[in-house]
Amino acid sequence: MSIDKILENNRGWVAEMKATDPDFFNRLADGQKPKYLFIGCSDSRVPASAITGTGPGEMFVHRNIANMVVHTDFNMLSVLQYAVEVLGVEDILVVGHYGCGGVAAAAANKQYGLIDNWLTNIRDVIRVHEMEFLRIKDDGQRLRRLVELNVIEQVRNLAKTNIIQNARKTSKPPRLHGLVYDIKEGLLKNLEVEDNGIGELQHIYGTEAMKHAEEVLESQPGFNPKADKGQLLDEPQKTKKDKKEDKGPHLQKAS
Ligand SMILES: [Zn+2]
Repeated sequence: MSIDKILENNRGWVAEMKATDPDFFNRLADGQKPKYLFIGCSDSRVPASAITGTGPGEMFVHRNIANMVVHTDFNMLSVLQYAVEVLGVEDILVVGHYGCGGVAAAAANKQYGLIDNWLTNIRDVIRVHEMEFLRIKDDGQRLRRLVELNVIEQVRNLAKTNIIQNARKTSKPPRLHGLVYDIKEGLLKNLEVEDNGIGELQHIYGTEAMKHAEEVLESQPGFNPKADKGQLLDEPQKTKKDKKEDKGPHLQKAS
């Protein structure tokens, strides 16, 4: 299809929309108030609007290879912050898809160049779920499961962001969902990812992690508030002698 054909299609679409709803474009020009944020794969077979039955103005969209939520990705973080704090979206959908080339590439024992650094985030998902992953003998089934596990981990990654943690202190935090799209059937499957986000990992990823760490420290026998609390925050004043006597981490959970 040439660019001329694309422009012609566009004019046809405008005429069609105006015929059914003369005020359609004026309304959209006034601003947007989408209820959903879609985080999906860039794959051309997974168009956000078409598979969800949403039209212009209804869904804020971020897409990248393999629908990743990477904490150093300022593009994704900017989209997320704007969607949550300004647009006030009610639901965030992380949408993976079976047959994802990015996921397959991450699982293959090959090097692809720059993209390997992006795929490493999916390899981390394999590491976290290695036993389950290795137990699946069928190659196709194993990849399908990896697509699902990747979506589950990306929903957790969303929950780890301070953007979602702060939103959860408000009266209307967005709900997080993990979905997988089946290209062969055209159907979306809800993975029913637990919406408690980071759950039992709150003490690590929570924005109040240091407060928890202090509580753990205070529960240690022989706790000395003056000497021990300073070590929790930073350790610039340590002398060589102190370092020698340092017998290990101070944040271990009291048994
Ligand atoms: Zn994909």
